[in-house]
Amino acid sequence: MIDLKEFEVWFVTGSQHLYGEETLKKVAEHSTIIAASLNDAKQIPVRVVFKPTVKSTEEIYSICEQANTTKNCIGIIAWMHTFSPAKMWIGGLKIMQKPLCHLHTQFNRDIPWNDIDMDFMNLNQSAHGDREFGFMVSRMRKNRKVVVGHWQDPEVLEELNTWTRAAAGWNDWQGAKFVRFGDNMRLVAVTDGDKVEAEYKFGYAVNTHGIGDLVQVINQASDAAIDALIEEYERAYTLVPSLQKGGAQYSSLRDAAKIEIGLRTFLEAGNYKGFTDTFEDLHGMTQLPGIAAQRLMASGYGFAGEGDWKTSALVRAMKVMGSGLPGGNSFMEDYTYHFDPANPMVLGSHMLEICPSIADGKPSCQIHPLGIGGKADPVRLVFNSAAGPALNASLIDMGNRFRLLVNEVEAVAPFHDLPKLPVARVLWKPYPDMKTGCAAWILAGGAHHTGYSQNLTATHLQDFADMAGIEFTLIGKNTSLFQFKNELRWNEVYYQINK
Ligand code: MN
Repeated sequence: MIDLKEFEVWFVTGSQHLYGEETLKKVAEHSTIIAASLNDAKQIPVRVVFKPTVKSTEEIYSICEQANTTKNCIGIIAWMHTFSPAKMWIGGLKIMQKPLCHLHTQFNRDIPWNDIDMDFMNLNQSAHGDREFGFMVSRMRKNRKVVVGHWQDPEVLEELNTWTRAAAGWNDWQGAKFVRFGDNMRLVAVTDGDKVEAEYKFGYAVNTHGIGDLVQVINQASDAAIDALIEEYERAYTLVPSLQKGGAQYSSLRDAAKIEIGLRTFLEAGNYKGFTDTFEDLHGMTQLPGIAAQRLMASGYGFAGEGDWKTSALVRAMKVMGSGLPGGNSFMEDYTYHFDPANPMVLGSHMLEICPSIADGKPSCQIHPLGIGGKADPVRLVFNSAAGPALNASLIDMGNRFRLLVNEVEAVAPFHDLPKLPVARVLWKPYPDMKTGCAAWILAGGAHHTGYSQNLTATHLQDFADMAGIEFTLIGKNTSLFQFKNELRWNEVYYQINK
């Protein structure tokens, strides 16, 4: 879907002229080796590009300027092998718009006890050189990731993996376009928000098209294209008899395919990265897009229902961040609860639109009536989802700021058949426990809509929120309600002051 190898992060080493040519030669040699090793590391999904050592205010400014204007550069990894006086960094950091990761590492893993002398000390001084750099970034109140450890340490590589994925998601939002068919679902609050502020803060634009514009494209889908898509459905899913050729509702499957072709054509033509629709505005459509929204999500498009453009954009970013990892990312909604005190859990689903990237096994393609929208029965994919660690993320507009809220959950294997439930579904237990998890979510104003992920961690989303410069709150294994409520109160003050 999205090939992260298209993107690069620049490995920039800071130094100065004080040490003389011999030392600088060594610095260049070492940083070349580290950059090449990171570039070759299987854990890092993007290319890591070596940049020559920067030793002056002018060189630093220039590399930051180049990073800003290089399209496929999604961030900078900075390391101070030697001491790089940080006043030299002010100008560059001031203009730098790409995410920054400070790799606090050292070329040698171990101290060479028997051989260590002052030459060695002069060369290998990132232990204090990186502190000087860190001071300036903190002094300038710039968000960045700090990764500590030897550059061959698997944990360090894993942290860089996470950060580069967050940077890829952030990069994807810059200049992105999302289309909204119809408006927000009438009277609903949390799915709405400030699209002007979102474009300013996040870099993506959300604009509307009347549903008639889409219907026109849907109606242009050719019979041959519909035939080909139905063959694909037949290969990928188990069709219920009524949807098979000659079945009583085969024409509904053709309608569904036609909608998918129209939507995909519309999104491709407009260069959109995702969309949202609403069952309240389907004029001229035969059925609410079910399988179409599901399959478009599986192709990498962002989606959320009922005009929820924030969740649509978030789902897209999560898909980019998780690209190439096992497991999937989907639009999700906390639907209904199992309040058995011995085994409490949440059943997540939506009316139709859950992404088959999280399906466990071959989805079943079914058709059932839908009580809302007043249209013909929509076709949808029905499936269960696998057990394992997962999370729900919600991006909410608090009026004075955006908050990214994450709840770590444990997905549970289905332990009961749901013969009458005609939608894809997931069962999970929120961390730290059902009552605390749900109470904290509600206190934080988390939406009923989320991005559900099987392959991202809270750290991916925290790094992402740092890049966006927005509030990040986590409900995880160690959350206590007492502390969480304090955090929300303190954040309220912090974000009033730090505008
Ligand atoms: Mn919904």
